[in-house]
Amino acid sequence: MSDLKKYPAILGGTAVRKIPFPKVNNMGIEEKALLSEVIDSALLSGFVARKGEPFFGGPKVRHFEKCISETYGVKHAVTVNSATAGLHAALAACGIGPGDEVIVPPYTMSASAAAILMCQAVPVFVDIDKNNFGLDPSCVEKNITPHTKAIVLVHLFGMPARVDEILAICRKHGLKLIEDCAQAPLARFNNQLVGTFGDAGILSFNQNKTITTGEGGVVLTNDDTLATRARLVRNHGEGIIADFPELSIENTLGWNYRMTELEAAVGIAQWAKLSELTEWRRQRAHELSDLLRGIPGLKTLNEKNSTAVYFTYPLLFDAKEWSIDKHAFVKALQAENIPCAPQYVKPIYWEPCFQQKIVFGRGGYPFNSAVYKGAVSYEKGLCPVVEDLHHNTLVNLFTCYKPVSAEDIQDVASAIMKIWQYREDIAKMGKESRV
Ligand SMILES: *Cc1c(COP(=O)(O)O)cnc(C)c1O
Repeated sequence: MSDLKKYPAILGGTAVRKIPFPKVNNMGIEEKALLSEVIDSALLSGFVARKGEPFFGGPKVRHFEKCISETYGVKHAVTVNSATAGLHAALAACGIGPGDEVIVPPYTMSASAAAILMCQAVPVFVDIDKNNFGLDPSCVEKNITPHTKAIVLVHLFGMPARVDEILAICRKHGLKLIEDCAQAPLARFNNQLVGTFGDAGILSFNQNKTITTGEGGVVLTNDDTLATRARLVRNHGEGIIADFPELSIENTLGWNYRMTELEAAVGIAQWAKLSELTEWRRQRAHELSDLLRGIPGLKTLNEKNSTAVYFTYPLLFDAKEWSIDKHAFVKALQAENIPCAPQYVKPIYWEPCFQQKIVFGRGGYPFNSAVYKGAVSYEKGLCPVVEDLHHNTLVNLFTCYKPVSAEDIQDVASAIMKIWQYREDIAKMGKESRV
């Protein structure tokens, strides 16, 4: 123990990192300039709930939407005030309502499933493929019932799911496909942007996403009817639908999901930075993967057929190889001042609203609705891959973003190497502290 530098911090050695990882700050003069224009114009929102130009929002909202639709090569980008709102608007626009089931993974932000409940439909949780954290197509097939109307496919951690196979299932069974790309802007599958495969794709611009407007989101679609219906849900649809006699009224109640000119102004400036910020993440992530390649018991992402954008850097941890569990590994890594967590979220169906089936009132609606003829299960153990990731294998690193440098990434790898070398001592310490 003479050389404290080589010894893990958790065993009393010196931490690899003396200074914390850098903070994210991608705001600058571009955002300020566009915001000033909005303030000077005194038009903070251009929306009015009537048919005509103001149905589409103010000049900054429309400009932002044009930037997004051009990058994505889609006909419509409908901005909203959060991705949660976007998911709800897209599902409602697809006609999802009471009595319907919608398939969704339980390993995602709770909003992916909550948006289904907002439509008074029933979320059906289906297990994922641990190689890409997206829905497992074979599990999806097994869970399709006569009530299934749509699939919410999440591209988690910025890693594309097996969207080609999921799309084929949707076509075969006549299901709508909504892609939740909140964590995956610019991610590609077979060189096609995810979010452009299904009926609609959703991006998030909340504070923690790759680019931000504080709060915000967008619905991407090539479907004219879906776009108009989503715009009605965004903007007091019940008061305008009479002016759209060609559209079905169903599920066009409006929730006021409109984005302000202020957020759109920031969004325009942020959008111009998205590709650089994404490349930065990918470069750091690939450096890290190269450095970790020789260490046993760690599995990094395999980007075969896909371009991941590393919202986080997920690792699969093999406790047998390491002789410590992932919680001990993460504690040791945190002691080296490397930002990481031993898990993502709990499987969503563990949450009380699903365990107790209490959402709207206390009577069990929509699970026991007279129009719902299915029998959904939320029992623990429902999705074994997700539960195993949660308990045993998933480790998330938060180390790949601008302005993290190649040297910072070296520190991550050095810290992990050090823990690997002293894993037996860490295991012993764990045993001693338990007696
Ligand atoms: C962040 C996130 C959302 C919700 O985004 P908001 O803009 O905060 O509503 C939905 N799904 C996933 C996968 C997310 O990561």
